[in-house]
Amino acid sequence: MVRQLAELVERIKAYNPDLNEDLIVRAYSYAMKKHEKQKRASGDPFFSHPIEVAQILTNYRLDTASIVTALLHDTVEDTSATVDEISGLFGKEIGRLVDGVTKLTKIQIQNIESVQAENFRKLFLAMSEDIRVLLVKLIDRLHNMRTLSFIKDESKRKSIALETMEIYAPLSDRLGMLEVKTELEDLAFSELHSEARSSIVRRLRYLERQGFDLVGSIMDELDEVIEKSNVEAYISGRAKTPYSIWRKMQSKNVSFEQLSDIMAFRVIVNNQRDCYKTLGIIHGAYPSVPGRFKDYISTPKRSGYQSIHTSIIGPKKHRIEIQIRTREMHTVADLGPAAHWNYKAGVNDFEGINYIWLRELLDILDNTQSSQEFLEHTKLEMFHDQVFCFTPKGQLIALPKGASPIDFAYAVHSEIGNTCVGAKVNGRITPLRVILQTGDQVEIITSSGQKPSPQWEAFVITGKARSHIRKRIRIDSNEEYSKLGREILIKVFSNSGYEFNENKLIEALNKFNLDSEDDLFISIGNGNLMARQVINAIYPNNSRHGDNEKFKTVSDYKNSGILNKSIPIRGLTAGIAVHMSECCYPLPGDRIVGILSIGKGAEIHTIDCDTLIKFSDQNERWIDLVWDNDLSNKFFMGRIKLTVVNESGSLGELSSVIAHNGGNISNLKVVSRSQDFWDMNIDIEVKDLKHLLEIIAVLRSIPVIHSIERTKSLEN
Ligand code: MN
Repeated sequence: MVRQLAELVERIKAYNPDLNEDLIVRAYSYAMKKHEKQKRASGDPFFSHPIEVAQILTNYRLDTASIVTALLHDTVEDTSATVDEISGLFGKEIGRLVDGVTKLTKIQIQNIESVQAENFRKLFLAMSEDIRVLLVKLIDRLHNMRTLSFIKDESKRKSIALETMEIYAPLSDRLGMLEVKTELEDLAFSELHSEARSSIVRRLRYLERQGFDLVGSIMDELDEVIEKSNVEAYISGRAKTPYSIWRKMQSKNVSFEQLSDIMAFRVIVNNQRDCYKTLGIIHGAYPSVPGRFKDYISTPKRSGYQSIHTSIIGPKKHRIEIQIRTREMHTVADLGPAAHWNYKAGVNDFEGINYIWLRELLDILDNTQSSQEFLEHTKLEMFHDQVFCFTPKGQLIALPKGASPIDFAYAVHSEIGNTCVGAKVNGRITPLRVILQTGDQVEIITSSGQKPSPQWEAFVITGKARSHIRKRIRIDSNEEYSKLGREILIKVFSNSGYEFNENKLIEALNKFNLDSEDDLFISIGNGNLMARQVINAIYPNNSRHGDNEKFKTVSDYKNSGILNKSIPIRGLTAGIAVHMSECCYPLPGDRIVGILSIGKGAEIHTIDCDTLIKFSDQNERWIDLVWDNDLSNKFFMGRIKLTVVNESGSLGELSSVIAHNGGNISNLKVVSRSQDFWDMNIDIEVKDLKHLLEIIAVLRSIPVIHSIERTKSLEN
């Protein structure tokens, strides 16, 4: 064990002569002690694992904090150690890093599907916050994969391998750690498809035995051929890995023997002209394989990828694949289209940008001695504009930062959003307007009768949620406008002495440029069209009584007798087709009248509201409404005006009396306050007028109230 410590220190010192050796020694002893009696599945002492991880990390010349984190990375998860204890012993920075690795370890991924994999990769990046956390976690996984075969439970092995294939290998690829990626893929491949892998490996070995450094000698020969024609070219080549060969066999549905390209070569040249020139040289020197030539330079892929692909019977009669491209095209191929966008304004692919940034960072790590400084001052700010939450079944939902449970519900399924009534976040009931955090588990409570509320629009931030809410509200309000419009029309027909006949309405549709009777009802209901215009269109010569009647005053209207034929506000939810006016706070029990306003439906006023005077010469806007009999479970706003004795406890008494009598104070405004009295207005949610009057009666009986009355005015 001591030998391992000495070796580790030596390896770090090789790139970091100023190493704080004491810190490494302390971390080593601490972790060893904590893991003392634990064993790996291999039978080795558990502590061999963190040491290995630390050793591998020295290949990447990581700073002392990362190495210490590697040594400690499993102590919080697997032993009695706590983050606080570690912060105390090794400093806050290391505490934070160990905490980060522990959090990543805790992410449980069940039944990963490829569609979900990208979200999980983002989650890992978002939760890492510090690139060192991610690096330690990747190398932790690498070592666990190297020792995977010791785990006895096959399904556990398989699920670790799958997770490695879907999450860790792609992540290391994005970080530019190609060796780690290749090894992770290969290890996972051998667990997931061990027979396929061994047969490919056997075949590769056989081919290797046929010619020694095949890749190298082919590269040399290609180099010679191209150089003769005075083209400046950089050639690279590699034997494909068993996994990439297997993938190609899968995607092309071919056998190994049919697969021509187990070796791939790349020729990078200075410009596009040289690409075609090089192609000519190669095709001139070797026979090409028919059907394998692709010119993605003249016809780039949608991703922006450009290159020439060809397969030839090359040096030593080996079938090889060759890609020819310029350096610029190579950058795009390597980093994706973001390489283009990086430099342009209006960038919308933040992922690509961030990956580039990361890769550049890793390049710096590789090439400079001052990597320490970079690591310490660079925070991962990837996907910080996103949050990642889970369904109770462990499905991961990615949302923009600031999203609410409603956004979550719609992201899961639009029906879940449409029927959402509540939410549990991490097991606790929470208001629908809370802001979700990464890692939250969200359970949406649904009820089949529920409809999206217009209020939701104020706190949803995803387009999907917003458009569904708007759509639902539009459908609902059209239904209501249609009901209201139909009732208005029936009434106006009857007032004019005609029998209501839907067939007659068809005659009017053309004139108003409407498609259906329903559209006609909606137009009337929302106030865009007057019922009288419809009657005039159908009966151009009508002059029957009622239709042209004008009310000169509000009392004319009250006396006209047509209140007997009122439209009940039945099934019309207040708030959409029918609005309670805010000038007189009508309550069930009040005599009411509706005023149609264009595009908004009917506004309800009490019959004695002063506002009505404004409409006294527009009788076509007036509609007669009565309260529906069934208004149970509905609440309306009533306003009272009162003067209260200014003494301690009077407000408390007042509000408890209101609450005791089933009223709910929704607004309270002190209008004036003198030494002895407070004048105030209180808005109370009540069932109806009777309810409000009862509350007023009770309040009147308590001594602290000097005077009280219902008010219908806005005056304050
Ligand atoms: Mn570990």
